Amino acid sequence: MKIHTNTGGLAATNAYLIADETTGDAAIVDAPQNTTAPLLNVARHNKWNIRYLLLTHGHWDHTSDHKVVTDAYPDAKVLIHKLDEPKLIKPGSLIFTLPYTIPPRRADGYLEDGATINIGNLEFTIIFTPGHSPGHVVLYCPAESLLLAGDLLFAGAIGRTDLPDSDPAAMEQSLQRVAALPDNTAVRPGHGPPTTIGQEKKSNPFLTNRI
Ligand SMILES: [Zn+2]
Ligand SMILES: [Zn+2]
Repeated sequence: MKIHTNTGGLAATNAYLIADETTGDAAIVDAPQNTTAPLLNVARHNKWNIRYLLLTHGHWDHTSDHKVVTDAYPDAKVLIHKLDEPKLIKPGSLIFTLPYTIPPRRADGYLEDGATINIGNLEFTIIFTPGHSPGHVVLYCPAESLLLAGDLLFAGAIGRTDLPDSDPAAMEQSLQRVAALPDNTAVRPGHGPPTTIGQEKKSNPFLTNRI
């Protein structure tokens, strides 16, 4: 597996390019503003085919560049949890006016709890982790011990739960689910540097009281 990261947009959000270099299949995970073009260049350079744009949730800082991805790879499917599709259909911030507009679109399909997505031979399991937003998901690849965590879990912090459609109780349950993953699971969050589940269970105040 190859993984490339690019960070940008008003909220310094991480975009990831995940590729199975043995088959040439690849996906972009989250699409912050002005971040995906360099990742698409990496894909093109390596002759990887972008099969999916996988969105951990519908917040504007994770969806802004969706059209950049589908303009470059028209066959790429844009997938999100059904409960966050409304944010894709009517993009924007719930709490302030964005200084730019995001083209509205529907999802091509839905990311459902327990379902798997294959990027070449890499199999990711969708874990439904609402709380930060109603349709938040994380993507877990057991074979690579990798968790793409979106805005659920950051190094030393967790996603906001004070937004108009956040749910702190659901967030609690969602954190419980990922805290049960193996300690050596690498966490690639939606904001900030990589970490591991074990590291966060040791030092993240939101996770330290868990099994
Ligand atoms: Zn968010
Ligand atoms: Zn975010």
